[in-house]
Amino acid sequence: MSVDGAAPALLSWYDVHARALPWRAPPGAPPADPYRVWLSEIMLQQTTVAAVRPYFARFTERWPDVAALATADEGELMAAWAGLGYYARARNLLACARAVAKDHGGRFPDSEQGLRALPGIGRYTAAAVAAIAFGRRAVVVDGNVERVVARLFAVEEALPAARPRLHALADRLTPARRTGDFAQAMMDLGATICTPRQPACAICPLMTMCAGRATGDPARFPVKAPKAARPQRRGTAFWLERDGEVLLCRRPARGLLGGMLALPSGPWTADDPGLAGAPAEAGWRDAGHIAHVFTHFALDLRVVTALTGERTIAGQWWPVERLAEAGLPTVFAKAAERARSLMEIA
Ligand code: SF4
Repeated sequence: MSVDGAAPALLSWYDVHARALPWRAPPGAPPADPYRVWLSEIMLQQTTVAAVRPYFARFTERWPDVAALATADEGELMAAWAGLGYYARARNLLACARAVAKDHGGRFPDSEQGLRALPGIGRYTAAAVAAIAFGRRAVVVDGNVERVVARLFAVEEALPAARPRLHALADRLTPARRTGDFAQAMMDLGATICTPRQPACAICPLMTMCAGRATGDPARFPVKAPKAARPQRRGTAFWLERDGEVLLCRRPARGLLGGMLALPSGPWTADDPGLAGAPAEAGWRDAGHIAHVFTHFALDLRVVTALTGERTIAGQWWPVERLAEAGLPTVFAKAAERARSLMEIA
């Protein structure tokens, strides 16, 4: 069967099997609120639906529309985002909401081009919001869609070089009408049936037209270029406690985990930096190591702890019992947990 039948087959499947998600309109219904579509798309970058759900609920309760988000306090927003990772997204979220409020009268532009001019909105997000929230014909290609398309056409070219070809093939499949539903149907198919390791071809609406399935080994697609090994870095995080409070610092606005509250920490380098970057002279005790993987490197973080009575140390002293409210990024939340387990024993 020709792939020309892919869009109708997929839409019929979606009408019955669409996932109910809090940011979505049901199949065939008028488009969902652009604010909710945009917010969910930003949150879902590099993150799973299950992880995003509670964040989405909290964000939309605290900031129910783009005008409310535009007035958010940056520190509060960063704390609310803590745990979702890729913190530049949170800063861009605020910048984008402010741009929509200030330059667009509180309404998102309804074209891909207009959306792409906003902070933090790239090619994928612009296409997704234009299609899902405004019913525009746009070619929406995320990792799920790349996988489905690579299998459907048995594309032998390896990623990332194959990306332009996969986009062109996705364009060929995209219908002129119900583009938002089509985009979400492709995402759902990739998330629930055409999954990375074990595609469930026997129940797939595209099975009769899938060249990848015909090869007998659809999971081989998309073909990937071999990965370079992730470099290892080492660092030290300092837990300094005084009268039931712990010393925190705000990281510089630019760079990794920029603008987030964190434990003081020295450089993260290939060689062990020892106690470089310690916030004070103190009797530092080892609390062990934690491992954390960032996109471009893996970190082995040594955690050291000390008590102090010193009053002149600069930084934010935060009550240990209320540390959960500080919104530490995951790597420092893990380090804090490690330190606290030692402090409680001591
Ligand atoms: S038939 Fe199998 S490989 Fe092809 S799109 Fe469906 S689930 Fe994916």
